[in-house]
Amino acid sequence: MTNKTSVEQTTKNNNSNKIIIRKGIIDLSTIDKNKNGKVYECPMDWNVISDKPGVCPLCGMTLKEYSIEETKSNLNKFGYEYKK
Ligand SMILES: [Zn+2]
Repeated sequence: MTNKTSVEQTTKNNNSNKIIIRKGIIDLSTIDKNKNGKVYECPMDWNVISDKPGVCPLCGMTLKEYSIEETKSNLNKFGYEYKK
């Protein structure tokens, strides 16, 4: 148990770039941690979504701010699965 917690903390602190690459069914309600209805998404890699401004770890582009609804429609358009 102690081990698991320390691994999670290390991931959060050091690998924040990698964890914004979303896989499988994307759940925007867990990504939008501050619940402001907005997330940051890469306009080239639609599965790269963060709650904070940043840079895409895949292509280096600045993430763009989208509302949750816009993000869902982007994911839908490009064939990504997301939690409705
Ligand atoms: Zn990208």
